[in-house]
Amino acid sequence: MKNIILIAAPAAGKGTEADLLSKEFNMVHISTGDMLREEIKKNSDLGNYIKSQIDNGLFVSDELIIEMLKKRIQEEDCKTGYILDGFPRNVEQARAYQKILEELNKDVGLVIIIDIDKNIAASRIEGRISCPNCKQIYNTSTPLMMPKVDGICDNCGSKLIKRPDDRKEVYIERYNTYIKETQPLIEFYEGEGIAYHIDGSHSPLDTHNQVVEVLRKNND
Ligand code: AMP
Repeated sequence: MKNIILIAAPAAGKGTEADLLSKEFNMVHISTGDMLREEIKKNSDLGNYIKSQIDNGLFVSDELIIEMLKKRIQEEDCKTGYILDGFPRNVEQARAYQKILEELNKDVGLVIIIDIDKNIAASRIEGRISCPNCKQIYNTSTPLMMPKVDGICDNCGSKLIKRPDDRKEVYIERYNTYIKETQPLIEFYEGEGIAYHIDGSHSPLDTHNQVVEVLRKNND
């Protein structure tokens, strides 16, 4: 299976789709957001810097994220294919990633863009909660995505939390950052002829079916 880059506005269903793909095709799900949140838990100077960027809806530095990612994709579990969720997020990161892939003799694979209307995404943000332990995402405004027991993770029993950057005010900042930084990235990959657009405004299953269709057509 080719490696996959998932690109989408916050709350378009990127994390949920990455999980579904990871289970169905046995590929590693690499979420740079989750990696950064793990670093925050360490309470280090680096963690404090990351926290302040994330809480304000801003990106962390390209240098930091590229270094983290370079290490991660060389780990053993990535050999059979991986899904990137949250990286690259701008053209600079994409260029740096191309260089890393050349060095490692790997292929970029396919780029899947999940499109969503800003208002639909903003309304999803309000109901989004997640598990700080196993990272499973839930949504209290979508019946199919609710946890079985209110506030408790179905997978591991941990208490579900609301991410601090999932507040509506921060969401607007995150969405604006996404448009400014990520739109040129989409154009970059369209120019490479490896980008595929998916409509993410319906259910997670509908998004997933569209993605699987793209994968079937483009994996030889
Ligand atoms: P996510 O979980 O993908 O929504 O990411 C949460 C936050 O982590 C983002 O709003 C950024 O502040 C930061 N972040 C995640 N991935 C990257 C990246 N590739 N480059 C810069 N910042 C990132």
